[in-house]
Amino acid sequence: MGCTALQRIAEKSTRIEKSPLVGIARMAAESPQLRERAEVEYFRLGARSTLNRESSGRMPFAWTINPYRGCEFGCQYCYARYTHEFMELWDSRDFERKIYAKSDAPELLRAELRQGRDKGLPISLGTATDPYQPAEKQFEITRRILKVFAEFEGLDLSITTKSVLILRDLELLKTLACRHRFGIHMTVTTLDERLARLLEPKAPAPAQRLEAVRKLDGAGIRVGVNVMPILPGLNDSPRMLEALAARAAQAGARGLFGSVLFLMPSAMKHFMPFLEKEFPHLAGRYHRLYARSAYLRGEYPEKVSKLMSELRVRYGLNAGRGEAWASAVKAQMTLPFGGRAFV
Ligand code: SF4
Repeated sequence: MGCTALQRIAEKSTRIEKSPLVGIARMAAESPQLRERAEVEYFRLGARSTLNRESSGRMPFAWTINPYRGCEFGCQYCYARYTHEFMELWDSRDFERKIYAKSDAPELLRAELRQGRDKGLPISLGTATDPYQPAEKQFEITRRILKVFAEFEGLDLSITTKSVLILRDLELLKTLACRHRFGIHMTVTTLDERLARLLEPKAPAPAQRLEAVRKLDGAGIRVGVNVMPILPGLNDSPRMLEALAARAAQAGARGLFGSVLFLMPSAMKHFMPFLEKEFPHLAGRYHRLYARSAYLRGEYPEKVSKLMSELRVRYGLNAGRGEAWASAVKAQMTLPFGGRAFV
């Protein structure tokens, strides 16, 4: 196979000079390039399986599916930037400008479901990257995955996204809601458009996402709003969170979930320069908060958790929640989204 752009980049890495590429890094380096647009490059990535086991046992799902590696939405706080490091891509911006499409994922999924590999356990689509990010307009891998799900019955499925592109598949989603135990989580971190533009530069505006919630609910699909992450000093004021809960309820959301930002080293090296540039007055606080651990513990997360519980009760955002959603709240308050299992 000829030398790809990615391979040339990889070969410049000191780390790679020391040891040959193995595993997912080697697969990525051999990925054929699909298209290049502005700063974003697309590659095809072969997968060995589509269902990835969630092995921590602390999440409300047993299997994850991510049709893409990398995410063009480029949220400043994105915890999943570490997944590109598995491919020996150390520049955190590569996560949003080198996107890997797992184009054979739907066929692999069909075979896995026929074999009963899921064992009837909950499957979550979009845990490490957004399944409806811009690449999906072109590659339609998520859409093909939904079509595979529509061939089966009785699965336990959920989708997490920030994208209004999900409405493209409304008819398919309705079919899934009839055939499976099915819910959608729309992530909305703030109603403040300016703050959202800074934090989530290429994701749809919050008002558009809430409009998507309204349309999904109108189509009879169970949908909840994820306020994730909650960032100290940025989107965590009780007034902001209450306004968001009220708008979510108005839009027809049936659940409200929230968790405090966690910052693993790969996310930290991208997020802190952003914070220092845009919110310098908060930089010292974040350095202190996350100096010892990627996860905050103690009074602050407990306060946030209590507030979210109160808002759920006040705005009826507990109604209609099944067991999986109830456990989602618990799990997301102690989020351990680490590990390859999510990729
Ligand atoms: S949409 Fe999700 S996966 Fe994509 S960059 Fe934002 S936080 Fe990361």
